[in-house]
Amino acid sequence: MYQRIFKNVSFILVFFLMVLMAHAQTVPSPASYLGYQVGTRFTRHHQIVSYFNTVAQARPDMVKIMPYGKTYEGRDLLVAAIGLPENMAKLEQIRKHNNGYVDGSVTDLNQPAIVWLSYNVHGNEPASSEASLLTLFALVDPSNTKTKEWLKNTIVMIDPCINPDGRDRYVNWYNNAVGLQYNADPLAREHMEPWPAGRSNHYNFDLNRDWAWQTQVETQQRIALYQQWYPQVHVDYHEQGYNQPYYFAPAAEPLHEVLTPWQKDFQVQIGKNHAKYFDQNNWLFFTKERFDLLYPSYGDTYPMYNGAIGMTYEQGGISAGLGVQNEDADTLTLVARATHHFTTSLSTIEISAANKENLLKEFKKYYDNSRLGNASPYKTFVMTAKNQHALAALAHLLKKNNIQYGTYNGSFKGFDYASKKEAVFVNEGYTLAVNVAQPHGILARVLLEPITQVNDSNTYDITAWSLPYVYGVHGYASKEALSIQAGFEPNQSPAAPAQYGYLIPYNSFATAKVLAAILHKNIKVRYAEKAFTIGGRQYEAGTLIVLKTSNGENWAAETKAICDAAHVEAVPVASGWADKGADFGSPDVKVIARAPKVAMLTGDQVSSLGAGEVWSFFDQQLNYPITQLNYSNFNRIDILKYDVIIVPEGNYKDLAGKAVTEKLQAFVKKGGVLIALEGSVQQLASNTEWGIKMKEIPKSDKVDINQVSKYGNAVTDYLESSIPGAIYKVYLDETHPIAFGMGGLYYNLKQDMVTYEVSNDYWNAGVIKKDSHVAGFAGVKAKAALQEGVVIGVKEIGAGKLVFMADDPIFRNFWENGKLILSNAIFFNGK
Ligand SMILES: [Zn+2]
Repeated sequence: MYQRIFKNVSFILVFFLMVLMAHAQTVPSPASYLGYQVGTRFTRHHQIVSYFNTVAQARPDMVKIMPYGKTYEGRDLLVAAIGLPENMAKLEQIRKHNNGYVDGSVTDLNQPAIVWLSYNVHGNEPASSEASLLTLFALVDPSNTKTKEWLKNTIVMIDPCINPDGRDRYVNWYNNAVGLQYNADPLAREHMEPWPAGRSNHYNFDLNRDWAWQTQVETQQRIALYQQWYPQVHVDYHEQGYNQPYYFAPAAEPLHEVLTPWQKDFQVQIGKNHAKYFDQNNWLFFTKERFDLLYPSYGDTYPMYNGAIGMTYEQGGISAGLGVQNEDADTLTLVARATHHFTTSLSTIEISAANKENLLKEFKKYYDNSRLGNASPYKTFVMTAKNQHALAALAHLLKKNNIQYGTYNGSFKGFDYASKKEAVFVNEGYTLAVNVAQPHGILARVLLEPITQVNDSNTYDITAWSLPYVYGVHGYASKEALSIQAGFEPNQSPAAPAQYGYLIPYNSFATAKVLAAILHKNIKVRYAEKAFTIGGRQYEAGTLIVLKTSNGENWAAETKAICDAAHVEAVPVASGWADKGADFGSPDVKVIARAPKVAMLTGDQVSSLGAGEVWSFFDQQLNYPITQLNYSNFNRIDILKYDVIIVPEGNYKDLAGKAVTEKLQAFVKKGGVLIALEGSVQQLASNTEWGIKMKEIPKSDKVDINQVSKYGNAVTDYLESSIPGAIYKVYLDETHPIAFGMGGLYYNLKQDMVTYEVSNDYWNAGVIKKDSHVAGFAGVKAKAALQEGVVIGVKEIGAGKLVFMADDPIFRNFWENGKLILSNAIFFNGK
C-alpha cells in the first residue's frame, strides 16, 4: 500500500516535472529564441513579432495575441494580453465587465485590473521594445513565481512597438553603420542618425502627439483597440538624451485640473516603487520635472483623460546605439537601457497588482463622475456654422474619441467663443452639440472648453487646442445642461443632372477636396472672384463653376459623383447669365485650366515634421499628388516643370543665397507659386530681393541695474518670451482668393513672436490685431510683440506669386481651419 502510494506520488511528480519541463522547453527566453542576450544587438521588428507569436503558441492559456492592423509600410501591429490561465479563460468577460465601469452597468470590483504597457512610440528610442521581450518572458516564465502572484490581480497588455516603421528605420540604419564592435565615441557615425530620424512614423509624424487627433493609421487602429479595453494603468515608454538618467512618475506641472487626486497620488506610489529598485541598483533617476500632463494627445495624458493612470517613462539613450560614452564618463549600453525599462515594467505591474481594488474603485468613480457631468463647469457645448462640413469633420473627431454628440435647436445664453463674452446663442444654420454628462464627458470638456486653465506655463507643448477654434466654427458653452437631439449625420441630397454647368458653393475643406478631385479628373474648373446671384440665390466669392464648355464628355457625371460622395452641394445651372454680378464669361471668372503640378522641398535641412505634415496632408487628406524634391539636389532640378512649390519649415542652407534666390525668382516670375511656411519665410525675408520684412521685436538695450536677470530665474525670463502654442484670431482680406470660404476669420496657432510688416508691396491677406489673442499661454514679451502684423501675405512677382505664412496652417494635420487656406494657396492663382 505504502509502496503503491509512493509509486503514484512519484508518478504524479514525474508527470508534473515533465509538464513543467515541456513548458520550460516550449517557452523560449528571448536570448534562446534570438540567439543573443537582449541588448547586445538590436532586434528587428519582425523578430519581435515572431517572438511574441512563438510565446503565445507555447502558452496559449496565458498569452493572447491581438493583431490590430498594419503600419503604412505594412508592418504588423499587435497587442499581447497576458494573464493567468483562469483569467485568460474569461478574458472576454473581463473586458466586458471592465467596460461596465465606463458605462455604469456594473458595480462590483471583483476582477483583475488592466495594465497596458506601450513600448517604442518613438522609433529611435528603441530600448523599450527590447525590454518588452523581457517583460513578456518574465510574465510567462514558469520559474518566476512573483509575476504569477501579480497576475492574480492584473491582465497585462503589451504593445511591443507602437511605431514599427520608425523603429526599423532606426535599427536597420544602425545595423548598417556599426562595425564588428560598437564604438562608444559620441562622435562616431553610429551616433549620428541621418534625416529623417526614426523617431517618427512613415509620414514623419510624431505618434506621441497624435492620440486624440488620430490622423495616422497606427493611432487610428490602436485607439480602436484601446477603446475596447480602457485600462486602469497605461505606460508610454521613451528615451531621452543619453546624458539624462531615468525619468518616471510623478509628472511635472502643469497638470490639467480635471485630473483627480487619485490619479496624481497613485503616480507618487508608482514612482516610489520604481525608486526602491533603482536605489537597490544605484541607478539615477528624476521625477516631477519636465514632463507635464496638459496637452491631451500624448500617451500619458490621453489615458489620463480616459480615467487611467497615464505615465511617460524616459530612459537616457537617444543615439546611444549599443553603447556610448556619456558625460559621466560611463559607457551607457543598450543592455542597461533595456534593463531599466524592464525594471519599471515589472515594478508597474507589481504596484498595480497590490492596488488593484483602489485602481478599479477609482476608475469606476472617474467614469461615474464623468457620466454625471460633475467635472466640468460647462455642461453643454454647442457649435454652429453656415454649412455642415466643418461640423461634420468635428463630429468625426468626436466619434473617434467615443464622445457622444447631437444637434441643438433651442435658445440659451452662454459663453460665446467668438466674442469671449456671454451672448445669446445664434444658430447659423447647422449645429453640433455635446453634453458633458456622458462616459467620456471629461475628455469632451478637455477638448472643447474655450480656455485651458494652466497653473504653470512651462509646458512641453501647445497650451490651446479648443476644438471650435481649431475647426473654425462658432462655439458656445452653457453652464446649464441643454437638451440635445442625438446624432449628427451630414446630409446633402444628390445633385440633379446638369447639361450646362454646376455651381459648387465653396465654403470648407470638404469643398477644397472636391476641387482637388475634379481637377485630378482633368476637368477644368472656373471660379468666381466676386459674389454673384443666380435664381435669387447669392453665391459667394470662390464659388466653383464647372461647365460643359471645354470639358470632355463625362464632366457632369464625374462632377456629380465627386460631390455626392463628399456630401457637397452641386447646383445645376442652364445658362452663363448672372442676375447680379459677373456672367461666367467675365474676366472676374477665372479658370483653372489644368490641375496644378505641386512639388515640395524635403530632405536634409528641412524639418522632418514640417515636411511630413505637408506630405501627409496631400497623400492622406487632400488626396492630391505631390512631388517631393530633395533640397540637396535643388541646383540640379528643373523646377519650371512645376506650378506650385511648397517650402516647409526648415533650416535651409543658402535658401536666401544668390543662386537659390535667382532660381526661385525665375520660377515665380514665369507664373509659379511659391508657398513658404513658418521659419522658411524668415529665411526668404532675410534677402531683400523678396521684399518682405519681418517685424522687429521691440527690445530695450538699456539694462536697469535693479532689474537684471538672476541666474536662478532663468526659466522665468525664458517664459516671458515664450509662446509654446496659443490661438490668435487672424483677420483675413475676404476679397483675396486665399480667404475664399473662410468667412473672414482664421484661428491661427502661434508658436513664436514672428510677424511681418504691414505693407503696400504685397497683399496683407491675414493680419493679427491688438485683440487677436484668443486662448493659450503667451509670455508678456511675446504678447507685446504680437499686437499687430501680417501672418499671411501674398506678393505678386512677375506672372506668379510668393505666398508666405508665418505659422503652420496644418499643424499635426489636425488644425482643421488652416487646411482650406493652404488649399486656396495651391489652387486659386488667378492666371
Ligand atoms: Zn520619446
